[in-house]
Amino acid sequence: MYLKSLEIQGFKSFANKIDFKFHNGITGIVGPNGSGKSNVGDAVRWVLGEQSARQLRGSNMQDVIFSGTENRKPLGFASVSITLDNADHKLPVDYEEVTVSRRVYRSGESEYRLNGTSCRLKDIQEIFYDTGIGKEGYSIIGQGQIEKILSGRPEDRRELFDEAAGIVKFKRRKAAAVKK
Ligand code: ATP
Ligand code: MG
Repeated sequence: MYLKSLEIQGFKSFANKIDFKFHNGITGIVGPNGSGKSNVGDAVRWVLGEQSARQLRGSNMQDVIFSGTENRKPLGFASVSITLDNADHKLPVDYEEVTVSRRVYRSGESEYRLNGTSCRLKDIQEIFYDTGIGKEGYSIIGQGQIEKILSGRPEDRRELFDEAAGIVKFKRRKAAAVKK
């Protein structure tokens, strides 16, 4: 499984639609300060279901929508789609390719799609449990996160091991069953 492409429109500094194509291997994103490198990482977290504005370096969820510049008006929505190659079926779905999309409007209205079909955040989260990719996963290591892991609470550190060991989905299912 690998990241194939990332399409961003109206998200943070990306007013125009931009389609990043990745290949199986290493990609580096370089650019001057403030040019939007970290915003690319934020777009990945966001499309995978990040619910915390603070994690995305904003104060509320609408902050991810392009807020305009001196010569460009703000936009009304932000949209991000991520496409992963799933030929090895590491993600537990029949598709060879998985595209997850998220869109939010200024009104607060928002939607998620899985291969073009409207779905719930929960459906997206379930696909990524135990893959290390979800928003709780360790595939995105943000600035300061290593420090947090090393000095964090043992319970929080344990979550990382649960994800790596592939038992998160069982824990979630157990918790849901106990609640019923
Ligand atoms: P550095 O090298 O300093 O880490 P960077 O390339 O990672 O920089 P980012 O933090 O990704 O840069 O981008 C910051 C830029 O994104 C700022 O110029 C900021 O104004 C812009 N930005 C953030 N949110 C929005 C938004 N909602 N609308 C328009 N621009 C935004
Ligand atoms: Mg940065």
